[in-house]
Amino acid sequence: MLPNLKLSYYNHFVPIENRQVFVIYNTFSGSMLELEWDLGTRISKMNSMEIHFLEDEIIDRLLQHGMIVDNAFNEFNAIFNSAERNRADIQDSEILFMVISPTNSCNMSCPYCFQGDKSIKAGDTKYLSEENIEHLKAYVNTTIATTKIKKIAIEWFGGEPLIKSNIIEEFSEYVINLANKNSILYEASIITNGVLLNEKNYDILEKSKVRKIQITIDGNKEMHDSVRYLNNGKGTYQKILDNLKNIPKHKFYFILRINGDKRVFDKLEGLFEDLEAMEIWPQRNDEIQFDWSPKFFNVTGFNEEKAFYYTSYEYQKSREDFAKLKISRYNKWASNNARNSKTLTYALPEPAKFYCATVESPYSISLDDGGFIHKCYNTVNDKSKRIQHISDFDPYGAGTDYYMNFDKTKVADCSTCKVLPICEENCNMRFVTNAESKICSSWKYFMNERISAIYEKNFAD
Ligand code: SF4
Ligand code: SF4
Repeated sequence: MLPNLKLSYYNHFVPIENRQVFVIYNTFSGSMLELEWDLGTRISKMNSMEIHFLEDEIIDRLLQHGMIVDNAFNEFNAIFNSAERNRADIQDSEILFMVISPTNSCNMSCPYCFQGDKSIKAGDTKYLSEENIEHLKAYVNTTIATTKIKKIAIEWFGGEPLIKSNIIEEFSEYVINLANKNSILYEASIITNGVLLNEKNYDILEKSKVRKIQITIDGNKEMHDSVRYLNNGKGTYQKILDNLKNIPKHKFYFILRINGDKRVFDKLEGLFEDLEAMEIWPQRNDEIQFDWSPKFFNVTGFNEEKAFYYTSYEYQKSREDFAKLKISRYNKWASNNARNSKTLTYALPEPAKFYCATVESPYSISLDDGGFIHKCYNTVNDKSKRIQHISDFDPYGAGTDYYMNFDKTKVADCSTCKVLPICEENCNMRFVTNAESKICSSWKYFMNERISAIYEKNFAD
């Protein structure tokens, strides 16, 4: 006698016509199964009442892969429990993550950037004072002494952090020594506009164990210079490319972030041409990664006109298009330089994390240049989002839960979404401040295309 069974809510049926097979992928169990065409067609159309018409061997296989489940099993509750477990794991994290702005001032005046709003600076110190750095050191010491942290990670942020590279140098030296003494791992990264990446600052970053450097380039020269210029109005494109050209070999890993709207995307070919002509990329492909970061129509911080911004679907589509453009540029170069070509590959997604580690972890902080704590680094230039001061920070005290206490599994769209178990949207800020501004998972839009590609690469033949 068959137990009471039902089809999983999280099955995705992907027909692969040219091979006459059906692939079932289950976002909750993470399993993928190939069925011959007629059987797959039949199961894709059946409801749970019809399971008993299937052969025992098929039922067993589907049960084993979580595509059929016991009727009493509440999949949704199980997802809720795993989201709560993730939250608890993050809150129990052994990593002290600090986003530190040595200064919120910037040498550039990009119109779309919140850092460009100098009015919020009135009455502030222009950089982290000696006194506040001492408070920060005391906070790190206390955290090491009173928690079980095993790793310290710092991200230097701003404003433009390299304006105050002396703070980076001195504070890093202090914390690296402290980490060594306490056998704690240490790692650091920086987000910079790239203008001050000169020899002296490369040296400081190397000494400060900064390995990952994120720089923003917004399209080709014309596009970039129209939105990313110095305080005196001068464009920065050529300066940034010149600095990149001089990257010391094999010491850093670079992320070239392109914040772009639809106009910027159309100008990307020009950027790729210049990077290649200057032997930056693809020549140094192993050290440089791109991050196409489409401007989303509802994201906080951007304040220029929104007609060219992306909707959630367009956002994910443009990321797919960027990946294809990058590969085609790489392959063009590879074929002219006797290198192997690359193909776009996909892997099955990791289970969802549900929540943002920066916000949820009690000891993680974002520090502005006045010594005030923010929970989300996106707000370091917004005084209204300061929650406490570093001089007497209580990780469980006032404001620490500002972006918490929401349950993603209860958000209307998400609770019924079939990709919830693998959804990579885990930005607490977007859910708390404006739930409709969330960016949906790329898997929601490209499930069939990706599963077909994974099947072709790994399972076909
Ligand atoms: S953010 Fe979008 S894709 Fe992700 S679970 Fe919610 S509705 Fe689904
Ligand atoms: S809440 Fe969102 S914006 Fe803020 S740190 Fe987390 S992921 Fe980033």
